[in-house]
Amino acid sequence: MIALEVYHVKPPVSRRGFLGAASAATAGAGLAASAANSSLAVLGGKPVRTAAFPSWPRFNKLEEHAWTEVLRSGKWFRGYGKQVERFEQAYAQLTGARHCLATANGTSALFTSLNALGVGPGDEVLVPPYTFVATINVVLLQHALPVFVDSDLETSQMDPARIGALITERTKAIIPVHLGGSAADLDSILPIARKYRIPVIEDACQAHMGEWRGRKMGTLGDTGCFSFQASKNLNSGEGGAILTASEDLVEKCYAFHNNGRGRKTSSYDFSYHASGANLRMTEFQATLLIAQMTRLEEQAKTREDNARYLTSLLKEIPGIKPARMYAGCTRNAYHLYMLRYLKEQFAGVQRATFLKALRAEGVPCSGGYDPLNKEPFLKNVLSSPGYRAIFPAERLRRWEQQNQCPANDRLCQEAVWFTQNMMLGTRADMDQIAEAVRKIQAQAGKLAKA
Ligand SMILES: *Cc1c(COP(=O)(O)O)cnc(C)c1O
Repeated sequence: MIALEVYHVKPPVSRRGFLGAASAATAGAGLAASAANSSLAVLGGKPVRTAAFPSWPRFNKLEEHAWTEVLRSGKWFRGYGKQVERFEQAYAQLTGARHCLATANGTSALFTSLNALGVGPGDEVLVPPYTFVATINVVLLQHALPVFVDSDLETSQMDPARIGALITERTKAIIPVHLGGSAADLDSILPIARKYRIPVIEDACQAHMGEWRGRKMGTLGDTGCFSFQASKNLNSGEGGAILTASEDLVEKCYAFHNNGRGRKTSSYDFSYHASGANLRMTEFQATLLIAQMTRLEEQAKTREDNARYLTSLLKEIPGIKPARMYAGCTRNAYHLYMLRYLKEQFAGVQRATFLKALRAEGVPCSGGYDPLNKEPFLKNVLSSPGYRAIFPAERLRRWEQQNQCPANDRLCQEAVWFTQNMMLGTRADMDQIAEAVRKIQAQAGKLAKA
């Protein structure tokens, strides 16, 4: 299940629920109290809330104007206009990065980074099993071997204690993912990478404005990759960016994303630096991003304030474990609000039933990712003729034996996610999320028998 799905989950509005909310608006706090005491909405009772959470994306005349300007200029390609370059400069400045290269999307930012770093067939790349599939797909596109590092159950991030044992002489990159906008443990990962001289590609596709010890996530690895796909905290429908401190790397990235062609002054310069692809951002994407960026800091602050408050409420509920953050994570971007649901504290009620009950109370939620390291497609790729030609049979056998991520298996069974747009709501919205969870917890016995 991917995060996208939950964006389209509207809280159920039954006629009864709607009338209840309307009368409660006049009765003030009466609603929460009466709904909390009523039977569970999934069993026919009154839902805790019926209002929708904030919608996403947010835009106004600023975007309308910016978009129309580009349209009317006729300059829709970065080679003709100035918007992509303006965005690159603004995003580098915002994050404190030396260089920024805009790309078509986050997948191409990762793909370009791997190519610029020379990761290719026969190489191995350390990846987490708990991420969006793009993190793995880009490794497979290079005919390299994704080696899965088990998750830290409490944080949902790559467990740094597992990295050392998985490094071989073929390990050519580590891709820590700052999942949900919380940070992977860079204090542990970066020194290991340095020791073995392995480049680090930060997958910061969910971590806009997130910080590690006061520095923006995506600026601490050799490259940092961002996505501006529709669900992400900075959004232009599709879009991506690479941050790096290395001039050499940014030029390699530029050439790769531009069909092997470097920066040039003429469209008629047909000299090639390397092989590549066309992964360029359009002027339309860039102008939208520049406009969206005017709200980025304010939205990040709202999400963080709300999420912290929500954590203070949820951590008091038996069986609810909000994801822990590493001490170095000085700012969480909260692309996802992640927690673990322990059914033992909910009369043994399965997570799927809990999620259904929570949605019925008016709180959209999902169970998050399934274990990527167990995806059947992965086995098909690794047993394909191409992979068998590149990797010794013995290496592929060892990969299969090593491919055990028990902490992640458990995480995938226990996780519950709320999406970033919900964190753009009010304190009262957070109160209602906690109220709904508390209500289900209090009546879990009835749910177990239903
Ligand atoms: C969204 C995402 C990507 C891919 O970005 P796209 O812009 O959709 O290509 C990669 N990694 C993670 C962790 C993501 O969340």
